[in-house]
Amino acid sequence: MTVRKPFVGGNWKMNTTAATAAQLAVDVACGCDDLLGRADVAVFPPFPYLDTVGKHLGNGVRLGAQDLYHEAEGAFTGEVSAGMLIDVGVGVVLVGHSERRHVIGEGDELINCKARAALGAGLDIILCIGETIEQREAGQTQQVNVGQLMAGLEAVAADQMPRVTIAYEPVWAIGTGRTATPDDAQAVHAVIRSTLADRYDGAVAESTRIQYGGSVKANNAQSLFAEPDIDGGLIGGASLKADDFVTIVTAAAQASS
Ligand code: PEP
Repeated sequence: MTVRKPFVGGNWKMNTTAATAAQLAVDVACGCDDLLGRADVAVFPPFPYLDTVGKHLGNGVRLGAQDLYHEAEGAFTGEVSAGMLIDVGVGVVLVGHSERRHVIGEGDELINCKARAALGAGLDIILCIGETIEQREAGQTQQVNVGQLMAGLEAVAADQMPRVTIAYEPVWAIGTGRTATPDDAQAVHAVIRSTLADRYDGAVAESTRIQYGGSVKANNAQSLFAEPDIDGGLIGGASLKADDFVTIVTAAAQASS
């Protein structure tokens, strides 16, 4: 059986200032220092603070970006390329986050372009997928997640999969305080893993990390991470408080022990 090292990401979204981002980076780096042998950790600050956060993180906690554009350079006002992210020390990027899909309006085709551009440039990716409450209530949870997974991974080769993490983030649980039960989350994670086995093979399915995201807090992380197919989490609100975030990383590290 493959042992997957848990992976916890802190998505700071459009929050922090230069000063609070730097302080949060220092506090997260310090708090996670002893845990990095048992859990991988990344933070995803806003673009303008990537450089300074990277300098304050040191070498342990990874620097992530919340998005990228799939073209390498040119007349794409407001966009940021994979090469630019790599230039400032980014190693991993979110692709298809719920707010990119449902607030900004990104579709599966664009998300796949971004995934392939990031991987092609050498970045790791976290591909985010998840159903809305309407889709869940209509019984479409499995279909929606499998669809987004397959579309997001179109033309992504098996040998690139070690650099891919999947984040299952039900839209109705993000920023709402309403968390999926461990059983409900586990059920979707198992479907994602078996879809990876069909799309690639058993080895890829067993080794790919699948995070849960959606109102993960210091007081519910342990029960979620205890599920066999939940390999850490993507954390929004609770990642803005270093103590809470470190407690969540601790829960992930303990789940792996
Ligand atoms: C997220 O931003 O991916 C997220 C899961 O947010 P929150 O933890 O606030 O629900």
